[in-house]
Parts: sequence; C-alpha cells; structure tokens
Amino acid sequence: MFPQHPWYGVRDQCRYNLILGYNCTASCRYCFVQTIFDDPIPTIFVDSAEMTTELRNFLSQTPDAGVSTGEYIDSFLFDEITGHTRELMDVFASFPESTLELRTKSARIGHLPPDPIPQILVSYSVNPPDVVTFAEPATPSLETRLIKAGELHDRGYRIALRIDPVIPAKEFEKGYRALAGLVEQHLGWHRVYRVFLGVLRFDHALLERLTQTAGGRQLIDSEFVPCPDGKYRPFTHQRVEIFRMLVGEIREYAPAIDFSITMEPDYVWRAVLGP
Ligand code: SF4
Repeated sequence: MFPQHPWYGVRDQCRYNLILGYNCTASCRYCFVQTIFDDPIPTIFVDSAEMTTELRNFLSQTPDAGVSTGEYIDSFLFDEITGHTRELMDVFASFPESTLELRTKSARIGHLPPDPIPQILVSYSVNPPDVVTFAEPATPSLETRLIKAGELHDRGYRIALRIDPVIPAKEFEKGYRALAGLVEQHLGWHRVYRVFLGVLRFDHALLERLTQTAGGRQLIDSEFVPCPDGKYRPFTHQRVEIFRMLVGEIREYAPAIDFSITMEPDYVWRAVLGP
C-alpha cells in the first residue's frame, strides 16, 4: 500500500494504491510498469491473509480512504484465479466511507460476485478507438469495454470511466471530442458515476524506452516539460485546455457528473473544475 505523490490534488478520490501484483500482459505502449521492474513476467501476490490484515489496519486508521488495485496491473487480469476482489469486498464492507477502485480494460467479468458492496467502483479505462488500436493493441475494443461496463452496472456495480492517458498526438482532439458520444451510444452516461481524466505523463526511464521505437516516438510527438513529481507532461495551459474540452463534451450528456483529475496539482483542478 502506498499513497500518491504529495504534488497531486488532495481531492483525488483514489489516493492510495494496493499492489496485488505487477507487470501486465496487456503491454500498453504508454505503460510505465515495464520500466520499473527488471523482468516482464506478471507476478501476483497470493498471501491474502497478510494482505487483508494489513488492509484492515490501514482502513481502521483511514476509514474514508480511496484505494485502487490497478496501478501496476489490470485489476481483473488474474482475478478469476486469485479471487482478490471477493476477499477485498469482505474487508471494505466494514468501512462504509471507503472506496475500492478496480481499474480495468478487461472483458473478463463473469467471475465477479453478484452482490457488490457499494464501496466498489469499477473504473473502465477508455480511449478513442484509433488510440486503443495503436496504443493498447492487446486489450478489448472501446465498444467491448463499454458494453461490459454496462453489464456490470446492471449487476449492481458502480461504474466510473477513466479517460487516461489522453494522448495529445497530432490532431488528437477530433477523436476525444467524439468519445463522449460513443460512451452514450454503447453504455449511456446515466450509468456512469464518475469520470477520471489524465494526460499522458512519463518519467525519464519511460521516455528512453519510448524513443527506441517508431511507435513510441509517435506517442510523444508533441512538447512535454518536466514537472515537480519527476514526470514529463504537456505544458500546464495545454493540459487545462484538454481537460476543459473533455469536461465540456461530457457535460453535454451528463451535466451533473463528478470529475477527478489524475496526478495533477490543485491549481490544475481549480482551473478546470473551479474551487
Ligand atoms: S492494462 Fe494498465 S497496467 Fe496493463 S499494460 Fe495497460 S496500462 Fe499497463
């Protein structure tokens, strides 16, 4: 379990990460995980007794914590085998103010319990179809993710969408402007509880890896500047413009929906969403 960098906004709903495993077979082009570990093989932690004890202690001290399991691996990648979600539900059920974010692009949802607790938030990562094809080739299509999100909603799960990372490559706005309409078509905004927004960011190790391939270089074919957390991002005013554009498009369909802005400081939150 570890908290986010202190530079990030304090309003972020899910500020803690629970690491159930690392490395992910999806191998999205922009994923930082492959630069952290010295082997590419997925590793899953299975000592769940120790994990649940630590988690109960943590939540006893921080009962309103938002905890995500999808930082270093897709939350559902091996969940059918490990049963982690069921075990985590048993723990979080005792802490009604907490949030358990299950972050995924996966279509493998059949194993999930039919009786979700209200603390669960299944967060589907989405991007325009051309970005999915280019940057997330080993994952289900946007349409499939949205359909699966709808199925989970109908089984009682709260659903969030993560438009993260926005890839600010050449002529990117058109695809991102159309995204809200595709969500309406395949899922329906009335089924979405919250939206997380984030822009492509990377540290020096990932920058080096991206520059080694034509596909990687295409991903970062715009200007990026170093930020206080050690990651590169587009300039602040460009990020604010991107977030405002997405918020505007989404509010055409869902005027009252809540937003979180991922790994951004408070001044970016305020510029986009107000005080
Ligand atoms: S699904 Fe998530 S964790 Fe897995 S490779 Fe893609 S970005 Fe990384």
